[in-house]
Amino acid sequence: HSAISIRDLHVSYYGTEAVKNVSLSVNPGNLVGIIGPNGAGKSTFIKALLNLIPKDKGEVKVLGKTVKEVRTKIAYVPQRNDIDWDFPITVLDTVLLGTYPSLKLFRRPGKAEKEWAYECLKRVGMEEYSKRQIGELSGGQQQRVFLARALAQNAELFFLDEPFVGVDVSSEETIVKILKELCSQGKTVIVVHHDLSKANDYFNELILLNKELISFGPVSQVFQTEV
Ligand code: ADP
Ligand code: ADP
Repeated sequence: HSAISIRDLHVSYYGTEAVKNVSLSVNPGNLVGIIGPNGAGKSTFIKALLNLIPKDKGEVKVLGKTVKEVRTKIAYVPQRNDIDWDFPITVLDTVLLGTYPSLKLFRRPGKAEKEWAYECLKRVGMEEYSKRQIGELSGGQQQRVFLARALAQNAELFFLDEPFVGVDVSSEETIVKILKELCSQGKTVIVVHHDLSKANDYFNELILLNKELISFGPVSQVFQTEV
């Protein structure tokens, strides 16, 4: 199966099209960058794929199934300004949320889950903040915690919307390293990113989006069509 296959996706807000006629499929193990200018529809594209907002039209299959059927296999790290966690929850508990397939949400976490969540925090370099409130952290730190939550979920597919915004250079490198590791384990990672400058180092496939699909394929091939 493809990790994701999309056919004829259209999304609009109040009659204005934000994503138009996108068809593509991604094989497992790829690290895919979605690149395009502000307002190009990148966030809309991801949200529509994940059924977080309605589509006008289009078919989406993830691992050969509907998104609903494989919900727990999909991890989503929203854009920083979509993260608005004012209620009191610790960093570790935030990561623990990732270990629960939705329906088990109210089961109490056991020792094994806590250890696993801590391990995921360690992977993103945030373990010393485990007892802090998530709301006390900087935006960039929160994003690393949300990546840890995604790791805790043990998903097959990862969607990250602008994960490097507000993140320092060494954390950015750590995140890229983690994403590459996930891909080498056969998982699929889709990252919204606003510029092409590091695309070559970070991704192996690119989706150039500007409402419509401008280009899609292996990085070298996409660069050739662009230059
Ligand atoms: P990108 O992520 O590439 O910056 P977005 O997907 O956020 O682009 O936005 C694509 C277009 O849809 C923009 O013109 C934006 O103003 C519009 N848009 C995004 N979210 C909404 C919304 N909730 N209501 C109305 N229009 C929206
Ligand atoms: P093992 O296969 O060594 O017995 P597990 O079955 O606990 O270990 O873990 C299988 C995979 O899931 C490993 O990658 C592990 O780190 C991870 N994992 C462990 N506990 C959880 C959990 N509560 N939720 C999600 N993933 C977990």
